[in-house]
Amino acid sequence: MSSIITLNDVYRGYKMGQERIMAVNGISLEIEEGEICCLQGPSGSGKSTLLHIMAGLDRPTKGSIKIGNTRIDTLSENQLAVFRQRYIGFVFQSYYLIPTLTAIENVTIPLTFCGVPKKKRLQRAKELLEAVGLKDRMKHKPSELSGGQQQRVSIARAFCNNPKIIFADEPTGNLDTANKYEMMNLMTSLAKENKQTLVVVTHDVEISGFASRVIKIRDGKIEKIENGRDQNDGKMA
Ligand code: ADP
Ligand code: MG
Repeated sequence: MSSIITLNDVYRGYKMGQERIMAVNGISLEIEEGEICCLQGPSGSGKSTLLHIMAGLDRPTKGSIKIGNTRIDTLSENQLAVFRQRYIGFVFQSYYLIPTLTAIENVTIPLTFCGVPKKKRLQRAKELLEAVGLKDRMKHKPSELSGGQQQRVSIARAFCNNPKIIFADEPTGNLDTANKYEMMNLMTSLAKENKQTLVVVTHDVEISGFASRVIKIRDGKIEKIENGRDQNDGKMA
């Protein structure tokens, strides 16, 4: 196995008046291709900051990040945008769907940026929405869908492009328990099918049962790394 994400002594500081907060405080980490990995820790421990840095949405104040063989911390904004479109998918806690677009239109957005022809885009989006169980909700707008359904649309959107890595920041944070497990099963099985790497941020201890590795974060540092509860198929019993 080769590592797909490599962080070398990464720091991210914020200046707040006279104070300097180290949200990420010296993290080195390798994540293997195809790994399902969980970043866990209390609120304010630096999980989101770390995820954004790994995904090229934010830059470190010190240290380097490689995705495959590419140093992403030295790319220009334009190069980063192209890189993200090509290799990276995101799932956010609050879905971030476009309210005026239907489910299927929301899912096709990443493909639009990649220049995929319209017919192909719709075909691919349809497949993904079927895979997440929304075959009969394709023409619905986000406001006509439940929270769980909206998160499924956002999962379909994240996977639509067939990205190498999917990053999810508290993807189950707004969902009830039943939906939580369903969403994690969905993401982990989609990722495994295509040998994609999945990095999930959560402060929910239960959710880490889906991961092969749990990286515990505290005060911007790695506190410890544990093997996930279920290493065989990553699914909860
Ligand atoms: P988590 O996702 O684990 O809750 P975050 O990465 O969001 O933690 O935040 C880590 C620390 O960095 C917190 O102390 C937070 O207040 C601070 N922080 C995050 N983003 C900013 C910002 N844009 N400006 C200043 N401080 C920030
Ligand atoms: Mg966060």
